[in-house]
Amino acid sequence: MNESLLLDWLYKGRLHSYPQIYTAKGGNCMPYYGFSYGYLSYLWFMLPAIVITIVAQAKVKSTFHKYSSVHNYNGLTGAEAARRVLMLNGITNVSVEYVNGHLTDHYDPRTNVIRLSDSVYHVSSVAAVGVAAHEAGHAVQYATGYAPIKIRGALVPVTNIGSNLSTPLILLGLFMNSEIMIWLGIFLFSFAVLFSLVTLPVEFNASRRAIQVLGESGTLYGEELDGAKKVLTAAAMTYVASTLTALLSLLRLLLIFGRRNHN
Ligand SMILES: [Zn+2]
Repeated sequence: MNESLLLDWLYKGRLHSYPQIYTAKGGNCMPYYGFSYGYLSYLWFMLPAIVITIVAQAKVKSTFHKYSSVHNYNGLTGAEAARRVLMLNGITNVSVEYVNGHLTDHYDPRTNVIRLSDSVYHVSSVAAVGVAAHEAGHAVQYATGYAPIKIRGALVPVTNIGSNLSTPLILLGLFMNSEIMIWLGIFLFSFAVLFSLVTLPVEFNASRRAIQVLGESGTLYGEELDGAKKVLTAAAMTYVASTLTALLSLLRLLLIFGRRNHN
C-alpha cells in the first residue's frame, strides 16, 4: 500500500502539469482533471479494500484474543498440536521451533521448519492449536505436492523482483515520458496480484486440512473446533483483503495509464 501511496503522491504532482498540456493542445482539461481526482483518486478507488482490510485485521485480532483465553480440553500446546498433525500425516522431516513476535507463525519450506510465536508455541489455547495446525497444514501441502503451493513457491522470486521494480519503473516512465517503461512496470506489478490470488487457495486449503485433522483425531472437541475454525476464517479474510487491495491497485493503474494512452 505504501508503494501505491508514493505513486499516487508523485502522480498527483505530475497531474498538475496536465491541464496546461491539454489546454495547449486545445483540449478541455476539466474532464480529465475531474476524472483523476474523482473516483480514480487513491482514497476513493481503494476505499472498499481499505475498509475490508481494517475490518479483517480487527476481526482477526479480536477472534484470536477471544480464543487465546479458551484452553483446550486435551491441554495441548501449539507446538504439540503441530507435531501431532505432522505425525498423523506421516511427516517426519519437519521440525517445530519457537519464533519471537505476535502472529509471526509460519512454515518455512526451505528449511522444513514450522515456527510458532509467543501466543502459540507454549500456549494450550484453542487459538494456538488452530494456528499451529494451520501451519502444519502448509507442511502437509508441500509433502503431498499440492499444486497451488508449488505455483506460489515458484512465483516468489519473480514477485519479489516485480514488487521492487514496478513502482520505480512506472515513476521513471512518467518522468521520461516512456510508455514502454510504464507498461513494463504495470506488467511486473501484475505478478504481485497473481501471487496474491494463488495465495488464497493455499491458505483456505491449509485451514481446511487443519480443521479436518483436529476434528478427526479428537485433538479438539465440539465448540473448541468451532472456535479454531473462527480463528482461521478470520485469518483467511486478511488474505482476501490483501488480494482485493492488489487487484484494485492493478485496475487503478490500468485505468489511469490506459486512459492516458487514449488522450
Ligand atoms: Zn497460512
